[in-house]
Amino acid sequence: MSNEIFKVLVVDDEEGIRDGCKRVIERMDFPVETAENGEIAIEKFKKDKYSIILLDLKMPGMDGISVLKVIKEIDPAVIIIIITGYATIDTAIEAMKQGAYDFISKPFEPEHLRIVFNKASEKLFLELERTRLQAEKQSMLLDLAEEKSRIRSIIDFLPNGLFVTNAENKVVFMNTVFRSDFDITVDEGLSIDSYTDNKTYIKHIESFLDLTPDDDEIPHFELKLPNGKFLLSQGKPIFRGDISVGSVFIFLDITEIKALESLKADFVAKVTHELRSPLATIHEQLAVVMKNMPDTSEKDDKYILSRAKEKTKGLISLISDLLDMSRIEEGVHHYDTRKVNIPYVLENIVDFLRSRADSKKQSLTYECHGNVPEITGNQPSIESIFGNLITNAIIYTPEEGSIFVKVSLKDKYISVEVIDTGYGMDKKHIDKIFDKFYRVKDDNTRFITGTGLGLPIVKALVEALSGKIVVESSPGKGSTFTVLLPFDN
Ligand code: ADP
Repeated sequence: MSNEIFKVLVVDDEEGIRDGCKRVIERMDFPVETAENGEIAIEKFKKDKYSIILLDLKMPGMDGISVLKVIKEIDPAVIIIIITGYATIDTAIEAMKQGAYDFISKPFEPEHLRIVFNKASEKLFLELERTRLQAEKQSMLLDLAEEKSRIRSIIDFLPNGLFVTNAENKVVFMNTVFRSDFDITVDEGLSIDSYTDNKTYIKHIESFLDLTPDDDEIPHFELKLPNGKFLLSQGKPIFRGDISVGSVFIFLDITEIKALESLKADFVAKVTHELRSPLATIHEQLAVVMKNMPDTSEKDDKYILSRAKEKTKGLISLISDLLDMSRIEEGVHHYDTRKVNIPYVLENIVDFLRSRADSKKQSLTYECHGNVPEITGNQPSIESIFGNLITNAIIYTPEEGSIFVKVSLKDKYISVEVIDTGYGMDKKHIDKIFDKFYRVKDDNTRFITGTGLGLPIVKALVEALSGKIVVESSPGKGSTFTVLLPFDN
């Protein structure tokens, strides 16, 4: 930085001192002017801007202290160095009290003046740098504030609802669409249950804090608003290191998709309903015909009838699964919710399916660990989850295999594991078995009949309870289906 910006004024009645100081300071590259008395100095100061003033205390006319006071009043930032004779050292101290920066006593060597002057000019440079940094910081803060309000406006104008939660599940940010969709009258800063009373959705939001960066599958949630709108809530956890410190949630309007789905489900429900009773009748009639067949009947006839009976049985179970699926899509699992005791449900299912396992000489074991709390849900839906999984374990395990059902507590979840020593499956099938109608066809399963709808039904019901289902499987060794259901607080 150039010294040119700091102009210096030397005020002294002694010409020798004035000229001497001027020479020394000019050699240091500062512009210097002089004044031979206080009045001229003040005149000059009023007209021009000086940064450093060397001021003699004892001058004829106006003395140094009076000049100092006037100048400090005009510009308190100016640096004044007092030039003083030995006799006036007390006055010099007084001058310091009045705001002089330093003093130098006469007679002085040029080197002494340089040291005092350097110190003063350094202070000026530092001061200038501080002011510059402050201005820079101020403008940066303004930029930031502007940027923040710009982002806020953009998010506010998004056509989708959006909100952000923190590590305590408090809503720290929300936009206008979210406010109006959820009819929110309170401000940000409250816990999530102040914005919605949908308990399952609140649990869904809370479960985001348990996610880790390794979780690939982030659950989403469908909501029906009182105004009839259907929204799909998609969230993304925010991680600091491995820990989730909050999440961002956005909503997609899926009302139209839902209307189409409902039309489709209606159609499937009507058709399947119409088909179910005649098929059941045919099945029963075939059974009667076969029972009444004389032993002398043609072997082929018996075979044809038994195949027909098996096919009608397959069709009946497809129809039941399709009806279940359409009921789930209608949201039937949200109705008639009550406290459900999972161990009690599991014991009943295991009892009910035991004869089926026995007929394959399989061992079916049930174990309950810990004090498993009740959860709120639709009981038939919960029965359907575990009924399907345990039935699959029996079906996809060969004779004399083992099935083990174990319930325990894992963090905030009830964990139900259905473990079998059955056929298992290759890794490539694991993601797909939850797709509608997907069935693994290999040498072991080729002759097993099924609809490919059981696991999609299970997954939809588990997710409706804000739960998760995880599969581990190894061909020839067996499979473990683990269902994790969050329990009520
Ligand atoms: P379905 O049993 O009617 O075929 P699911 O949806 O219940 O339909 O199952 C889909 C597929 O997943 C099955 O066809 C089977 O190949 C595989 N699967 C399900 N459970 C098991 C299990 N416990 N062990 C091995 N494979 C299984």
